[in-house]
Amino acid sequence: MRTIVIGGGSSGLIASIHAKTSTNEVIILERNYTCGKKILMTGNGHCNYFHTNITKDNYFSSYTMLENLINKENISKTLKFLDGIGIIPKIKDGYYYPYSNQAISVLNALTEEAKKKGVKIVTNTFVSNIKKENNLFIIETNNGEYQADKLIVSVGGLSYPKSGSDGSLYQILERLGHNIIRPLPALVGLKTKENVKVLKGVRSDALVTHFENGMMVRKEVGEIQHNEDSISGICIMQLSSKIVRGLDKNLEEEIHINYVHDIAKTKEKFLNFLYTQNKLLDGPLIASILDQVLNYKLTNYFLKTLKIPNLPIDKISYEKLLSLSENITNFKLTIIGDNGFSSSQVTSGGVSLSDININTLESKKVNNLYFCGEVLDVSGDCGGYNLAFAFLSGIIAGKSVGDNKK
Ligand SMILES: Cc1cc2nc3c(=O)[nH]c(=O)nc-3n(C[C@H](O)[C@H](O)[C@H](O)COP(=O)(O)OP(=O)(O)OC[C@H]3O[C@@H](n4cnc5c(N)ncnc54)[C@H](O)[C@@H]3O)c2cc1C
Repeated sequence: MRTIVIGGGSSGLIASIHAKTSTNEVIILERNYTCGKKILMTGNGHCNYFHTNITKDNYFSSYTMLENLINKENISKTLKFLDGIGIIPKIKDGYYYPYSNQAISVLNALTEEAKKKGVKIVTNTFVSNIKKENNLFIIETNNGEYQADKLIVSVGGLSYPKSGSDGSLYQILERLGHNIIRPLPALVGLKTKENVKVLKGVRSDALVTHFENGMMVRKEVGEIQHNEDSISGICIMQLSSKIVRGLDKNLEEEIHINYVHDIAKTKEKFLNFLYTQNKLLDGPLIASILDQVLNYKLTNYFLKTLKIPNLPIDKISYEKLLSLSENITNFKLTIIGDNGFSSSQVTSGGVSLSDININTLESKKVNNLYFCGEVLDVSGDCGGYNLAFAFLSGIIAGKSVGDNKK
């Protein structure tokens, strides 16, 4: 029996290892000159490859029974395998990194295991078409045709297309009968309607609340960064998948930022804080109080846009002070777009899980065709969840191929 794995990223490598048996020849076809290009980019080259708390709630999909795939049993199997191939974790606040702090350690462990098992890796080979004739897959590439009894598709999504994942097979998979949930950028910076260019470069630890059509959806605490015409940072990225999908459905998407969340949860509390500091410091200019808790660009921006003079606070009206407090604790930005696939860490959407047997990851439309990784309609939060899913799904798809003698 021969199995071909299209795409040698994290999911394809791990799938190939599990698919290889003494009676199953496994060949990875990878378009790049080497496997795992994207792994080397992860976590800024440090590769945050897992997390201590993984549940289905860390994932975004149009499929509603993710717990059948992302559950304790599959998560612990995945971690056991990663430990077993010699990846030694260093865990910081729940985030797993290789002890060496280098992504290459993870890639090397995977490629060495694949080679040890006897997986053949064929690089510089771009798959341009897949056909099925007489129970055999015919795979057309720039290096000629390959035939296989079984096929694992692990080509990733559309994010960072320069790494090799450019959605080249979506149309072919659709033609083979699969529903493709519209791929959209996820874990991505967001464009705002309001012109806040002057805040470019401001980084803050903030509480950000997402509202969709006026309804509160999710709160996140973490770093945000203001850019030329967008806002980014881990906190924003965590909210982005849902926001981008909402925009695609023409929903109204808003974020509310509290820049001082650990000092004041409400405008009233921040106003009290201003009065307390005013008393303590014996009536300083208002900017002197604000500069102690905000980036100076934020201070200047709020005073200027709210037309508040830089005077001691007893010379400023109560209404102006309340409005200032409201803006600092609940700054509203309307989201009108995203920064696109070129900078999105993952893709939401992809091959619908409804067309797939969730226990084996085999297609319900084409026998002996399996999927794993980001090509599927599953995207995770920031924090090791996406690699964890690529590994988990790769193990399931590979094992299903290897176990199944049909
Ligand atoms: C900058 C960045 C940082 C990230 N950081 C993290 C992180 O720290 N933690 C985390 O969990 N996740 C992170 N991610 C996300 C994570 O890397 C991906 O979700 C994961 O690697 C997906 O694995 P995959 O195997 O499904 O797809 P990919 O890694 O994209 O692999 C797909 C492979 O298929 C090949 N291919 C595509 N089309 C064809 C074709 N037609 N023929 C042949 N080969 C083809 C590609 O060249 C590629 O090698 C990050 C992503 C990016 C872009």
